[in-house]
Amino acid sequence: MLQQTQVSRVIEPWRRFMDAFPTPRRCADAPLASVLQLWAGLGYHRRAKALHETAKRIRDDFSGEVPSSVFALRSLPGVGDYTANAVASFAFGERVAVLDTNVGRVLARAIANRTLRTAEARDLAERLLPDEHVAAFNQAMLDLGAQYCKATPSCTSCPVARSCRWKKEGGVDPAPLSAGVSRRQSAFEGSDRQLRGRLLALLRDADVEFRDVTKLLGSNDVSRVGAIVERMVNEGLIERRGTRVQLARS
Ligand code: SF4
Repeated sequence: MLQQTQVSRVIEPWRRFMDAFPTPRRCADAPLASVLQLWAGLGYHRRAKALHETAKRIRDDFSGEVPSSVFALRSLPGVGDYTANAVASFAFGERVAVLDTNVGRVLARAIANRTLRTAEARDLAERLLPDEHVAAFNQAMLDLGAQYCKATPSCTSCPVARSCRWKKEGGVDPAPLSAGVSRRQSAFEGSDRQLRGRLLALLRDADVEFRDVTKLLGSNDVSRVGAIVERMVNEGLIERRGTRVQLARS
């Protein structure tokens, strides 16, 4: 839920999601349409489908318990390196580094003072891990990147300023092109993402006639909207039933 999404936007959906689905099994047993209903406001709906599929894998292959190893976590739909390592570290105390866009900036600036490729950043993050309190260390790195070492860094108040290589040595900011540092997203207004979100919002209320979809989305580009519908059907987010379009039921 938090990937590319501000915490403030996630709090309410998170609460209603956890009320409805306090365990992976409860989520797995619900139809996908119910998961998509509760996902309202979060966007990136393929994540909701991946989460539902992950819940089903956990129910069917892991006796309803979230696995603790990075290897098993990586085998779940929609779970990448960052999520697998974060769950393994924070939930299970595994000794693995958590590398996200915030940590990527800290590594490139404070430790290396040069642009880091993905493998280098991962390697450096692993080598920095302490022997104990690894989860606290990972949390501190995430917070350092989120609170101080932001895209525009707050070096004057940064708690590690005295040992930061970029601060001491100067040079071009190494963070923007480094591994794990996210690029600026394309504009939302007028994007396919916006139309996809609008269509799912419509379908949360009721099924609609396919021929009405373009107009209901406030568009006049029938072929673009048709392609979006087809893509979302192929992704398993929505279904065509005769002449109508509805949220996917399974
Ligand atoms: S001193 Fe500045 S560049 Fe260095 S880690 Fe702190 S915020 Fe980042």
